[in-house]
Amino acid sequence: MKIWAHRGCSLMYPENTLLAFEKAAELKGLTGIELDIQLTKDGYLAVCHDEKVDRTTDGRGMLRDFTLAELKELRIDAGEGRVERIPTMEEVLDLLEPRLREGLQINIELKNSMLPYEGMEEKIIGLIRERGLQDKIQLKAGIFGAEAWTEEMRHDIEEKLGIKAYDIYGLTEISGPGVSFECSEQTGMHINEDHFIAEVINPKTGEVLPDGEKGELVFTSITKEAFPLIRYRTRDICILSHEKCSCGRTHVKMTKPLGRSDDMLIVKGVNVFPSQIETVLLNQGYPANYQIIVDRHHNSDTIEVQVEMTPEMFSDNAGVVSAREKKLVDDLKAMLGIFVKVKLVNPKTITRSEGKTVRVIDRRNLYQG
Ligand SMILES: [Zn+2]
Repeated sequence: MKIWAHRGCSLMYPENTLLAFEKAAELKGLTGIELDIQLTKDGYLAVCHDEKVDRTTDGRGMLRDFTLAELKELRIDAGEGRVERIPTMEEVLDLLEPRLREGLQINIELKNSMLPYEGMEEKIIGLIRERGLQDKIQLKAGIFGAEAWTEEMRHDIEEKLGIKAYDIYGLTEISGPGVSFECSEQTGMHINEDHFIAEVINPKTGEVLPDGEKGELVFTSITKEAFPLIRYRTRDICILSHEKCSCGRTHVKMTKPLGRSDDMLIVKGVNVFPSQIETVLLNQGYPANYQIIVDRHHNSDTIEVQVEMTPEMFSDNAGVVSAREKKLVDDLKAMLGIFVKVKLVNPKTITRSEGKTVRVIDRRNLYQG
């Protein structure tokens, strides 16, 4: 029998605290300890389950908006007048290292299913290697979702981390992550048909398409209560296959999304509509001559908006222009929640094709196939 302590000894002590881990490590016959990791604003590995600190501490807000020093100010009531703090991964390893060397296991859950935390995996691997614990802490597989990634990125991740990298698909409207999941074959994702009916339709006519044909994915939820969805259009383009998979499963398989039936872009895991960017520009008096350039460097998305100035703006001096750019950066951040690089360019310099500006240039090549 294997016994795991979930978030430490969390029934008797506040979850994911050094106290809970210490008490868990004292339990006889324990196989391992499960814990959850996130990144602080300044890039430290913090051990906490929720993405918000509200439930477990006296603070409020998203963990990723706190620096480590700020996080350490938050109090966790441990009863009998004791106060615990959110621990770092290092502190937990300091505490558990002797037990790990005796054979205790740790199962680390990386909390980036909903929010991307750039570089978190590398940090954890670095920490484990630094301490020579690589054979004590077993990383076998990673599940990567929330944004499109390529086969190239899969190879990169698998090689760097020495794990198998699996794809997962989900939609907030339906259930969040876990609508479909890759199997050991890594050739598409099995849809959980005990919860969803999946169809692929022609996005223009609504006609249901047979297996093998590319179309818009549509879901009907079977088990969802209070918020059922009937033939919900995802706007994601993909192909379905009902053929029995060599892994043995018979649940229908979907390809990775191959594109969108609307113009939505997913940048750094955030949904971005060109119309949102246009609204910000128009609100500040810019003409609608702009171009959005999305790219990916070192597995991280970048987005730049080039905007043509009006002839009046063009006569402004460099200081005024950079102040204008900054204002746009701030307003776009407020609208989209991500940093967008802004470049104001001279009137009539954005290339037009047949008189029209090409609105979006996506250089990431995410949707191959
Ligand atoms: Zn399979």
